[in-house]
Amino acid sequence: MHKLYILAIALLAILLLAPFTSPTPFFSEQKPEPHKPFRILIVPGHEPETGGAVYLDRKERDLVVEIGRRLGELLVADSRFEAVMTRDANGFDPLFSLYFENADKIMDWQYQKKVEAIAKVDSGELVEVKGVEHNSASKEAATYLYGINKWSDENGVDFIVHLHINDDTRKNRKIPGKYSGFAIYIPEKQFSNSVESRGFAEEVKKSLEKSYKPSTLKAEEGTVLEAQELIAMGRYGTLDVPAILIEYGYIYEPIFGKEKFDETSTNMAEKTYQAIVSYLFPEEQL
Ligand SMILES: [Zn+2]
Repeated sequence: MHKLYILAIALLAILLLAPFTSPTPFFSEQKPEPHKPFRILIVPGHEPETGGAVYLDRKERDLVVEIGRRLGELLVADSRFEAVMTRDANGFDPLFSLYFENADKIMDWQYQKKVEAIAKVDSGELVEVKGVEHNSASKEAATYLYGINKWSDENGVDFIVHLHINDDTRKNRKIPGKYSGFAIYIPEKQFSNSVESRGFAEEVKKSLEKSYKPSTLKAEEGTVLEAQELIAMGRYGTLDVPAILIEYGYIYEPIFGKEKFDETSTNMAEKTYQAIVSYLFPEEQL
């Protein structure tokens, strides 16, 4: 008796609610969809425990995490953005450490892209361009970088920002090098993500110029530089998402020293954030 009573109520509820839960309403209101937040991927350069410029006790791989953390905070506080950072002071985000476990899959995919790119060079569809010389990535670092490209294309990332601090190749690493200033790398113009990346990079240049001088290295003249061979910029066409790589300066510059870095990292993060806003929301005057 009791069970029947419950069943009757349940049936009545279904009948009453049915018109409201119908998947095909009689008319639908055409409201414009609010733009979903822009998804920004922040990539502090190099690996958690290795790689990158070192000057005395200052390590690029740690300093860029600090700039990234502050940039992430600014983006997260703004509802127009979502920020994901590949690693923090504790190492890779589990999103990425788990993804990198499939190193074979990543490198098979990379190999396929490489074969396609070589075929395009052979047919003349893609012209090889030599850019500024960079240190080549270790096998492990290369896997991470290709993995980040693959993940970004699969996970709806809108923009990627790689954070680096430069170094001057020299004999005595205990004394400062010759060059100073910032430079921004973008995908070479034949790549699908180049145009947007350039627009973004030019905003970052304008913004950083308010506080810092561009690189004095001859090869970095012009400050926004195209690169075809940098994995982070989509070598072999491995990236569709617009991406930039910022070299914020040279590691031995006093702004990266212990006393100054708190102020420097705050300012660099702010300048980068403001550039992201003015690129994506040009109507907003900062
Ligand atoms: Zn670096």
